[in-house]
Amino acid sequence: MNTDKLSVRLETVAKYVLKDSKLADIGSDHAYLPSYLVKNGVITFGIAGEVVKGPFQSAEKNVRAEGLTDMISVRMGDGLEVIQPGDVDCITIAGMGGSLIANILENGKEKLSTVKRLVLQPNLNAIAIRKWLIDNNWELIAEEIIEEDSKIYEILVAERGDPLKPYRGMNLETGLLVGPFLLQRKESAFKKKWSLEKKNWKRIYEQLESAAPSAETEEKKLEVSEKITLVEGVLDNEESEWT
Ligand code: SAM
Repeated sequence: MNTDKLSVRLETVAKYVLKDSKLADIGSDHAYLPSYLVKNGVITFGIAGEVVKGPFQSAEKNVRAEGLTDMISVRMGDGLEVIQPGDVDCITIAGMGGSLIANILENGKEKLSTVKRLVLQPNLNAIAIRKWLIDNNWELIAEEIIEEDSKIYEILVAERGDPLKPYRGMNLETGLLVGPFLLQRKESAFKKKWSLEKKNWKRIYEQLESAAPSAETEEKKLEVSEKITLVEGVLDNEESEWT
């Protein structure tokens, strides 16, 4: 991967960045994403935010080497600390856990006033982001699920709007867990992800069954069995090659 050729995961994130926007890529690491987007004429300006010194220096080095210092500002700071209200109209946050992404958005809420679109790629726990979007009046407008190098990634795209719109006509709990758009399409990566999750939860359930009985164990068992039932419903009880 470099600034000319992104991974499929980052290419999918790039696909949803608003044309001619000013972008902040939070947790940019090598700054490949904003560099690629500037070089391909998608964004007019980019901010690459990083909280850790090593990746920050790597971003600075790459942006300098590409001759993009006029177009990309590399900034060190925690989450949305690196932007001011009005700086950007699109934000990408990719390659972190869903809870961390939701925390970054929550802690920098006041910076989002002029932001039109969020493109978020959690490595796990996308439900934390879907919940944050609902609580903060952002409408999920698209979702993708892809598999690359035997890992499955979800990409969530949101704009301001009616946060419950994508969930109408479905069980909210299910939609939040697996994604309302992904649930409608049920692509092979989706089936694979949830078959593997189901297998994992079944294993956890079996371990809990052999644990010393306690109120806590019973509560956990109930929680896990509810998740299994929910995912079984989603998979239409199909026995797939991964179960
Ligand atoms: N976004 C790139 C991608 O998707 O390939 C890099 C992903 S890398 C796994 C996650 C990056 O996020 C790391 O470089 C880490 O230092 C940075 N990061 C983690 N928490 C952050 C925060 N609160 N604010 C800014 N950057 C953060």
